[in-house]
Amino acid sequence: TTFKDLQVDSRLVAQLTTERIETPSKIQEAAIPVALEGKDVIAQSQTGTGKTLAYLIPMLQRIQPDLKQLQGLILAPTQELAMQIFREADNYGQTMGITVQSLIGGAASKRQLEKLKLHPQLIVGTPGRVLEMIRNRKVKMHEVRTITVDEVDQMFKLGAAGDTEAIFKTALRDRQLLFFSATMPAEVRDIADAWMREPVEIGI
Ligand code: AMP
Repeated sequence: TTFKDLQVDSRLVAQLTTERIETPSKIQEAAIPVALEGKDVIAQSQTGTGKTLAYLIPMLQRIQPDLKQLQGLILAPTQELAMQIFREADNYGQTMGITVQSLIGGAASKRQLEKLKLHPQLIVGTPGRVLEMIRNRKVKMHEVRTITVDEVDQMFKLGAAGDTEAIFKTALRDRQLLFFSATMPAEVRDIADAWMREPVEIGI
């Protein structure tokens, strides 16, 4: 299987080739087609399996470049992981002409607030900071089509599950949800049951 077989945009395929990423990983092969269809996905996967691109590629392809509004949101439990995802999202976003911003706790809010005025199309952040910006009406959720939560199990461990669900509450009912988690404890299953509609389960 090639990325082209999975209906990955030719501009992304070119960028992947530049990064010497030639063949889809197992999680990418399983997740990209269903996520592109707009389905909810719950995937069990460890770091190093290529999980970031498994959600990033379909998210970028589902963003309408001409609509200068927030259309995708990626949540991560730690500042370090959010920053790492942001770098990857910004890299592939630029190839697609899609604007990406980080909203990460610990970093200065003032600069983030200024950048929000440019209407990023994809945001990568930590739940506390993202929720704060939504509550202050600096982030508008009404055009968000896809929300991805990376390391869902860690969201619970680090006490960020409440903020994550509060963010879900502000989104449209028919938004797509993508969950990635290294482990699948009952609390992760419960949050999927509560918020997802007939999710496709992927176990690698
Ligand atoms: P992740 O699991 O998202 O943390 O990715 C781990 C590393 O694998 C990253 O440095 C990616 O650039 C790289 N990677 C992602 N997908 C592939 C792939 N299909 N083939 C080779 N490397 C990849």
